[in-house]
Amino acid sequence: MLAMTEESPALYVVPTPLGNLGDMSPRAIDVLRQVAWVAAEDTRHTAPLLKHFGINTRMLAAHEHNEEAVAQQIVARLGEGKSVALVSDAGTPGISDPGARIVARVRAAGYRVVPLPGPCAAVTALSASGLVDSHFLFYGFLPAKARQREEALRPLAALPYALVFYEAPHRILETVATLSSVLGADRTLVLARELTKLFETIHACPLGEALAWLQADANRQRGEFVLLVSGAPPAADDGEGERVLRLLLDDGLPVRLAARLAHEITGAGKNRLYDLALGWKKADSSE
Ligand code: SAM
Repeated sequence: MLAMTEESPALYVVPTPLGNLGDMSPRAIDVLRQVAWVAAEDTRHTAPLLKHFGINTRMLAAHEHNEEAVAQQIVARLGEGKSVALVSDAGTPGISDPGARIVARVRAAGYRVVPLPGPCAAVTALSASGLVDSHFLFYGFLPAKARQREEALRPLAALPYALVFYEAPHRILETVATLSSVLGADRTLVLARELTKLFETIHACPLGEALAWLQADANRQRGEFVLLVSGAPPAADDGEGERVLRLLLDDGLPVRLAARLAHEITGAGKNRLYDLALGWKKADSSE
């Protein structure tokens, strides 16, 4: 089976293992063998991977500081009819890694971009998280400075989606503390550490207990982390919707209209308000 089925040159976006070389797909190996060049975030990092799989393809460096320049080189090579593969140090290029600008340039120049499915720490962690939120928001790395980190988190606090963050070991304690204080100590944290590696750990606990769990054993603070936080619980009903509904009904508005207006004014659930209004009407008429 050929990995590269088309004749025209393309940029192949190739995910690489997060730690376990067994996660390198046969198609990824074929593509890296068949292209003319491998554009790598760090050629020293990728060289042993290529060697391990017996791949002799030439490399060019494509890191965040030269992305624009290397994008032009890649477009020029595609123009000569040569295909190029893009890899990062681990996981999927362009996901909290360089690559997006190269992809944009190649697409703008009218060449094909062929993505291969493969390792990504966020998706791998999500699949084992057991978080039942049907939606998630991938955030990646939070800012390093405490104040910016809090400011970045605040707009996310009320979202009813699981939140997915990346974090490095030297900031894990402070980031977990900030997640707890800004998002709320009761929300569930799933901490996925060293995925696919020897010391892989997936631990779930309330955010408010996570700091103590990490501090109980220094080994738990080592390695690479994905932090997943359950979505915000539905907002507690503060009674405002009911109060406005009562006023509108008392003013003689029909049930359906009163429920709709109370919903629009307060944001309380429309169906719940409608059911409530019907119940009140029934009770009033039976008095
Ligand atoms: N492009 C990569 C991907 O697709 O997941 C992410 C690259 S980003 C520079 C590196 C971060 O990804 C780490 O700091 C960590 O948050 C996460 N990560 C990478 N490998 C991991 C692993 N084996 N276990 C847990 N998290 C990992």
